[in-house]
Amino acid sequence: MKSCDLIISAPWVLPVAPENAALSEHSVAISGETIIAIGLTDDILQNYSAADHLKLTHHIVLPGLINTHCHSAMTLLRGAGEDQPLKAWLEETIWPLEAAVMNDEYVTLGTQLAVAEMLLCGTTTFSDMYFLPEKVAEVCLDIGIRAQLSFPIIEFANAWSSSADDALDKGLALHDQLKDNKLVHVALGPHSGYSLSAAELEHIAEVGLRQNLPIQIHLHETAQEVADAHQSMGQSWIERCAEIGMLGSHVQAVHMTQVSEAELKLIADTDTRVVHCPTSNLKLASGYCPTTALREAGVTVALGTDGAASNNRLNLFAEARMASLLAKHAGQNAAAATAQEMLYMATMGGARALGMESVTGSLEAGKAADLIAVDINSLGMLPMYNPFAALIHGDAGNAVSHTYVAGRALVADGQLTPDSITNLAQRVQSWHAVRRPI
Ligand SMILES: [Zn+2]
Repeated sequence: MKSCDLIISAPWVLPVAPENAALSEHSVAISGETIIAIGLTDDILQNYSAADHLKLTHHIVLPGLINTHCHSAMTLLRGAGEDQPLKAWLEETIWPLEAAVMNDEYVTLGTQLAVAEMLLCGTTTFSDMYFLPEKVAEVCLDIGIRAQLSFPIIEFANAWSSSADDALDKGLALHDQLKDNKLVHVALGPHSGYSLSAAELEHIAEVGLRQNLPIQIHLHETAQEVADAHQSMGQSWIERCAEIGMLGSHVQAVHMTQVSEAELKLIADTDTRVVHCPTSNLKLASGYCPTTALREAGVTVALGTDGAASNNRLNLFAEARMASLLAKHAGQNAAAATAQEMLYMATMGGARALGMESVTGSLEAGKAADLIAVDINSLGMLPMYNPFAALIHGDAGNAVSHTYVAGRALVADGQLTPDSITNLAQRVQSWHAVRRPI
């Protein structure tokens, strides 16, 4: 008999990899931060003795979801700008609002709200792109969620950086601080091609390759962005990125609503990762990412919520459902984007996009114990014919009972456990009453 810290048993375990199957009456054995075994409950209980045994009787256990693109602190601007297309939304609403509220308190409180919301909906890893990333890192480390912090690099001066070079200096200093951290790591976050000079974009591509850092960039978010690029440079941003070495398996291209056949080939040939944010794209009327064609070409596609100002939720289960509906509609094919495929996209797809597939994204021995339990007695989940369909098309985001990151329960019986995020509603209301920007 081997000893371990925790055994979690459930009527359904969906490990996603190595096989994307639904296993009945299985258990997961956890030692410290790591999954050490998965098997039939009878076998696990025969072979392992645990300090704790969580016996879930009406739940699905699965890997924690991965929200591959977010601007977390924008939760505090949720609902502040509505019914505008991207350019007007950014220039007339969001950027002036951010200029009015940006400070340490805003970023800390907004990130806490985002992380709390994500944990309650089953997200265990997220990628952020926001100002004052040092504050975002503090919140993530305090709570214990896994994160990639893609520090924002833009040309114009803002509350965090005075120039693109200044952002690079500060972001790389943060990378130095965190490079041995197991939970939080840093990536380069050039906001977009159009918000940087040609020389700066090239420099960032070179830094990414030289320092072996992931790069996350908004790419081909709208048709206007692509038309403007053709007019000013005679080529698209995807073509420009290919020329300067900003495509590859370390590059996470976010949105990609406009992709020609030649560009799709460039993305596939370079193994560039694509992040699909269906709700944000639909809400801003930006178009949609051709996920079916990309996946058929072998491209890794992941899911993101984008910030709460353009979603307005951070519920990745809802995002997976939206991605499925959109792909079915776009392809006029009800068989496209199955629930099983969407669960993969929300977990292993995200892990692969972030280069973290050896750490998280599936329930496999040796990986981090990042896992969640969904209560199938929740009314929006009943009755259950198929666990994949229940998760993706039922109301799973509101039925998460437990969320573990690296073996630590951050949500237990539907309640957040970290002290720093237990009184959030009142703190957010107080902030809004005093700082309310509009
Ligand atoms: Zn974004």
